[in-house]
Amino acid sequence: MERTPGVRCYRCGITYAYIGSEVHPGRCPECGSRAVSPSGRVVLRRHDLEADRRDGDEAVIYASDASGREYRYALALLDGAHAVLASLRVDEESIRRPRRGWPAELLPEAVRRALRENGISLVGTPESVD
Ligand SMILES: [Zn+2]
Repeated sequence: MERTPGVRCYRCGITYAYIGSEVHPGRCPECGSRAVSPSGRVVLRRHDLEADRRDGDEAVIYASDASGREYRYALALLDGAHAVLASLRVDEESIRRPRRGWPAELLPEAVRRALRENGISLVGTPESVD
């Protein structure tokens, strides 16, 4: 697993470094998309994982970061205890799931913790559609 502390653009796929004393502004230098990795602390806004787990096949978590962007993570529940990131929205921009899916590491720690606390393990991408 790559451990480089980089910022990733979910739209064009580049990873770039940000050097500065403030949190990064959350805009891709390449394509201008706001759909890049969260900057600063990620705060969970809304979720009801318990209910999602009980009656749905999808779980949704809303979070925001220090730049004020809102993230919507939708997870497909594969069974009661495993989930995979199915779609991602940053502010108004929806990001299509890449063909090979997203790595589980893409989810910020705050989101991963909420899943853990609700007994849901995050798995990588279940299948490749190549
Ligand atoms: Zn980009």
